[in-house]
Amino acid sequence: MGAIEEIQQEYDVVIIGGGWAGLTLARQIRRGSQAVSILVVEASESFRGKVGEATVEMTGHYFMKQLGLVNYLYRNHLPKNGLRFFYDTPDHSLSLAEMSEHGTTSIPPHPAFQLDRARLEADLVEMNREDGIEVVMGVKAKSLKIGSADHHHTIQLSAGERNTEISARWLVDCSGRNRFAKKHKKLTRQENVPEHFSAWGRFKNIQDIDAMGDEAWRSRAFGRFLSTNHFSGEGYWVWFIPLSGGYTSVGIVGEKDKFEKLPTKRDSFLNFLMEYRAIAELLEGAELVDFEAWGQLAYRADEFIFPDRWATSGFASMFLDPLFSGGGDMIALFNDHISKYILADLKASDRACAQQMLDQQLPVANQTVKEFYQGLYAHVANVYPVIDCGELCSPLLAYNTAAYFLEIAWDYMSGNYLNQDYWLRKSYLRRGYMALELILQKQLIDTAEVLKSEGRYFRRNAEGFFESGADHYKYFVYLMGTAGKDGWRIDLRVKLWVEMFLKVIEAKLDLPMLANRMVVQQSILLPDLLEKPNFNSEDKDWLLNKISAKLSELLSDETESPVQVTVTEDSFRTDLVEVINPSGDLTHTELEKLAKKAKSLWSQTQEYIAMPSMVPVFLAFARNQPDSIMDSVIDQRKLQSREHQVSENRVVEAV
Ligand SMILES: Cc1cc2nc3c(=O)[nH]c(=O)nc-3n(C[C@H](O)[C@H](O)[C@H](O)COP(=O)(O)OP(=O)(O)OC[C@H]3O[C@@H](n4cnc5c(N)ncnc54)[C@H](O)[C@@H]3O)c2cc1C
Repeated sequence: MGAIEEIQQEYDVVIIGGGWAGLTLARQIRRGSQAVSILVVEASESFRGKVGEATVEMTGHYFMKQLGLVNYLYRNHLPKNGLRFFYDTPDHSLSLAEMSEHGTTSIPPHPAFQLDRARLEADLVEMNREDGIEVVMGVKAKSLKIGSADHHHTIQLSAGERNTEISARWLVDCSGRNRFAKKHKKLTRQENVPEHFSAWGRFKNIQDIDAMGDEAWRSRAFGRFLSTNHFSGEGYWVWFIPLSGGYTSVGIVGEKDKFEKLPTKRDSFLNFLMEYRAIAELLEGAELVDFEAWGQLAYRADEFIFPDRWATSGFASMFLDPLFSGGGDMIALFNDHISKYILADLKASDRACAQQMLDQQLPVANQTVKEFYQGLYAHVANVYPVIDCGELCSPLLAYNTAAYFLEIAWDYMSGNYLNQDYWLRKSYLRRGYMALELILQKQLIDTAEVLKSEGRYFRRNAEGFFESGADHYKYFVYLMGTAGKDGWRIDLRVKLWVEMFLKVIEAKLDLPMLANRMVVQQSILLPDLLEKPNFNSEDKDWLLNKISAKLSELLSDETESPVQVTVTEDSFRTDLVEVINPSGDLTHTELEKLAKKAKSLWSQTQEYIAMPSMVPVFLAFARNQPDSIMDSVIDQRKLQSREHQVSENRVVEAV
């Protein structure tokens, strides 16, 4: 099967577009039922390299569990060694091994893959055909008429001069950025989305990153080449993704307003990369074999699946941003929903009942994906303002990874996204998490400004630190997807946030090790931070007093006499705290002993896991968040500049 002449006149499901989204959806539906007739219509004759090569754990799970492709993936593509970020000086003058680094030490336990897209798609066509799915290549969908409850959709197809018309009970638009279904209804818009461009290409013969640096540098991490390696500068990042065929995908993603001229032409792209020392080292002797660029990446939609039995998936539906490789996760989420409803509808013997099910459940399905997009955007938006600052970005990446494992990926692996009762019951939690992310983002934006103004923004980049972030998820990574651990997950998730917020304060107020100190973790708790979301230098005294009071309380357990401990800004650097005995009844030796104990309490560090439980506080906070928080403008720099503009206009008016 492969030519337009061989196409039948009627199918249960017609999928327009045989890319990642369309071909995996066809396979997923087939795995749900052998009886469904499926046609995939692909406009191109063969597949080329495409962006969308790095996957993360949720997509890895989708490929392995929903699609049964684990054996295929390990044999034909590369396992991914997590995400890796290198931090440079502002003039990009460091060699690779001099840069500070955030990345895994070795391949993480939950599989994810680096996909050679041309190979994946060509192989999926073959696998689908073997499974009785009709896949036609070189055939383009030209127009469509969406049917009604009793009438199928009609679709006109063409291959050169040859045309045909077919009908389908279900139609799924997977036509990528062409968005074929807009011929019926325009769904997408560019509001409240990142305004980012991208330029990328595949290179042959790049240098082996694992042969660079000295022995000490090489031994810090195993198989760096398997990671998605990132370099960054103000408002942009560059990816290096290895592909199984020997090519390496390299691309830039950037905030458009940070560039005078976008490097979206082949030459400007190469020049841009070559000005970056460590990148130039990796690309020495390499050859660019293809190149592509897009001026605006993101768009959103409120719906992807409709009760009159059509849907969109992948690029045809919506796209957020390549940071965190969320495109594949969204396809997993779209396709799980679409295949669920197609299979349920086709199986139903009572058409009225089937329609009722679609009418009732699809609005929730659409809301699920909309909130997923917003939630992911909140995490993505937090990173861009600090993307080239190792001091803030590295802990933030660790936080985002752990939060992803605890929340989104866990829920996905548990099947919670398809369980509408569960999903609706937990709405307030998502509102709470969104509120926390928005608070954190404000702090990050503000802190980046403070660090820049005080010349501290890049100070850790050239330190050559190595941080893996694994401490944050080692406690639960093997439990991901287990049912019945909701309270425990909330507790960890909220503690992570508190720790991250403390890290930002640590950088902002320049108080070394603030977040790691046991006494800080015991004294500055979630309610404190929620009361002071705009935490700044004016709150320093409050902070020191609170920590001093807690340390005094801990020290009081060691003596019956009253003692008072004072923590000052200097204490963060000297590890010294002052101990006094207001009643004066302690001997000099006793006081010295207590001072020693106070110093040891002050120096004691512990992981975030040991903070007291925050669950009741968070639940109350989450329940107080309005539903509308899920529709928030996510990138708050846009809000700030709008507020700034409004206030400037007012001044002008007043003048
Ligand atoms: C710069 C960038 C980097 C990215 N990086 C990642 C990443 O690292 N990880 C990740 O998970 N995601 C990433 N993504 C997202 C990822 O690329 C997409 O989610 C994915 O490629 C979408 O696949 P798709 O099948 O929807 O679209 P496509 O792969 O574009 O497939 C659409 C298919 O439809 C066909 N078609 C179009 N019109 C018609 C028609 N009228 N009739 C018949 N066929 C038609 C096309 O020929 C094409 O084959 C990235 C996106 C961008 C922009």
